[in-house]
Amino acid sequence: VKALAIDLGGTHATLAIVEDESILAVRELSLDRAQGLRPVLPLFVQTFRALSSETGIPFSACEGLSFSFCGLPDSRTGRILSTNQKYDDAIGLDLPSWCQTELKMRFAIENDARMALLGEYIAGAGRGVEDIVMITLGTGIGGAAMMNGELVRGKHAQGGCLGGHLPALFSGRKCTCGAIGCTEAEASGWALPLIAAEWPGFAASKLAAEPEVTFRAVFEHAAAGDSVALAIRDRCIKVWAIGAVGLVHAYDPELIIIGGGVMKSADVILPVVQDQVANFSWTPWGTVKVVAAKLGNNAGLLGAIPLLTKVVRSHAKTV
Ligand SMILES: [Zn+2]
Repeated sequence: VKALAIDLGGTHATLAIVEDESILAVRELSLDRAQGLRPVLPLFVQTFRALSSETGIPFSACEGLSFSFCGLPDSRTGRILSTNQKYDDAIGLDLPSWCQTELKMRFAIENDARMALLGEYIAGAGRGVEDIVMITLGTGIGGAAMMNGELVRGKHAQGGCLGGHLPALFSGRKCTCGAIGCTEAEASGWALPLIAAEWPGFAASKLAAEPEVTFRAVFEHAAAGDSVALAIRDRCIKVWAIGAVGLVHAYDPELIIIGGGVMKSADVILPVVQDQVANFSWTPWGTVKVVAAKLGNNAGLLGAIPLLTKVVRSHAKTV
């Protein structure tokens, strides 16, 4: 099965022609998210035409267009519900009609975290498993869940996506969502500078000399023996581990996949999370495995085929 795929991020879009578990041709476009989505739609069409003639694969050979969006779409209607300050005009767009008119194929859209999970499920770390929770560690903490081979979506399309807002500490830091002590407020990229600034001894730490306290800085200085960086690193990993146990109890997975740039340090992170999940989850059937994501930025593109063939068809049955 072949398909067109778009993975839209905050500053760029990746467009590809995919076939089953492979990416046949790919092109990256730089975008300005403040400019909106409508003005770049013709550019998407033009790019797909170029990819089509390069590969010799006509649009008629494609099952449809899969769109991984950096906000909250409703996959049942193809409409975008919430944009999170990226491509704000997208909410009014009728993308399924655009796709039918311009590309003569059907359209499927999903949130980028769910697309990453679909990609890992079909071609990466989740291959062969049908009950999966995915956690993406970055500026925020993203997530998605799959039960019995189906993405968890829920009535308002938010199901499974808000794992970063499970509480880790009821007396903790205020989160962007309005709650207190979410895992994201206690151990994410945006919270890191705030956490470090309040840490005892921070001024004497190597971290204080960094222009910005990032996970890269924390993990590097921790590895080099800086005691403050080490303490912050270990606390963050502990927060992720506690969050993972919460997700096990919420979604009954057999596998947790952790992605994000910080997973370059998977050798430090995974054993702690695996240990916490093994010892603190109530799973009498066995132990949930914790692994690193395999596909990186390709996951959102490789989710295209399962989105178009499996997931959307199951919607069609029920909606
Ligand atoms: Zn929160």
